[in-house]
Amino acid sequence: MSAGEQWAGDRSRPEAELREGRVVSHLGQGLAVEDDRGEVVICHTRRQLGAVAVGDRVLWSTADRQQGRVERILPRRSVLTRPAHGGRIRPVAANLDQIVIVVAPEPEPDWLLVDQYTAACEHRGLGVVIAVNKQERIADRARVEQTLSVYRRIGYTCLLLSAHTGDGLPHLREALKQRCSMLAGQSGVGKSSLTNSLLPGRNLRTRELSDKAGLGRHTTTAAMLYHLPEGGDLIDSPGVAVFGLAEMTAADVAGGYREFREWLPQCQFNDCRHLGDKGCAILAAVEAGRVDAGRYERFRKLLAKMHLA
Ligand code: GDP
Ligand code: ZN
Repeated sequence: MSAGEQWAGDRSRPEAELREGRVVSHLGQGLAVEDDRGEVVICHTRRQLGAVAVGDRVLWSTADRQQGRVERILPRRSVLTRPAHGGRIRPVAANLDQIVIVVAPEPEPDWLLVDQYTAACEHRGLGVVIAVNKQERIADRARVEQTLSVYRRIGYTCLLLSAHTGDGLPHLREALKQRCSMLAGQSGVGKSSLTNSLLPGRNLRTRELSDKAGLGRHTTTAAMLYHLPEGGDLIDSPGVAVFGLAEMTAADVAGGYREFREWLPQCQFNDCRHLGDKGCAILAAVEAGRVDAGRYERFRKLLAKMHLA
């Protein structure tokens, strides 16, 4: 039974009007909430509710015919956060299943950023897919394959594709099916191009929602949840370059390197920082070729970048 049905049975209480829905966008002052039949209603929110994120499942009430009000945020399966003004942390997207990390031959891939994303995803319990876009532009294919093999060996799905030629897109569609995903990566790697290829009705939907919210035609929104034609959802959140690391400790980062996990219990000291400490099992595994030296090097850099080393 959905929460909506549960309340619908009891008309004597104010909650009787509560219905379940999913936040599909922030639009100006309002939230676009989609009900279980796919109808979108513009809702405002109670101030004391806290930050509502795209992808949130919510209970909303019908204040009047035009507008609803979000009354409650239902428990989240996952939440992705980013740092905001004044040292605060804001939710970017809720109830995601996985992140597709997009890289390309140009701009030059930043594997430290890739590892930053994988660590954050592991910490948040999110799946990871690594997609190399603009594959028709790759000059040194062997080198790319070698880098990807490191990620494949530790269990990440890696795809080579092209938004321009359409190569590999069926594999991406397959990876997105029945899941809620978001694309992440440096600017210029082709995230918008891929999103447009995946979502033929994207502009229509954006226009429909802005119209409903009484906003102009050219409004760009912070984030939007789209339904993929093959099933599954894609949250498009332009401008989210950094996420997930804000609340992580050095131990969380080490745990975010999934290939470290089997070695971590074997470090001599419980508080081992894996930075050359005596009896470190991670370092021993790197020296024995059991853990990729490049990933370990980036682990050290990531800690330094986060001021944790
Ligand atoms: P975003 O910043 O990650 O959203 O990247 P965009 O989608 O805006 O793409 C950046 C540039 O890369 C644009 O000039 C695109 O036309 C180009 N681009 C995107 N996908 C491909 C591709 O598969 N092959 C090539 N050659 N160029 C692409
Ligand atoms: Zn160690």
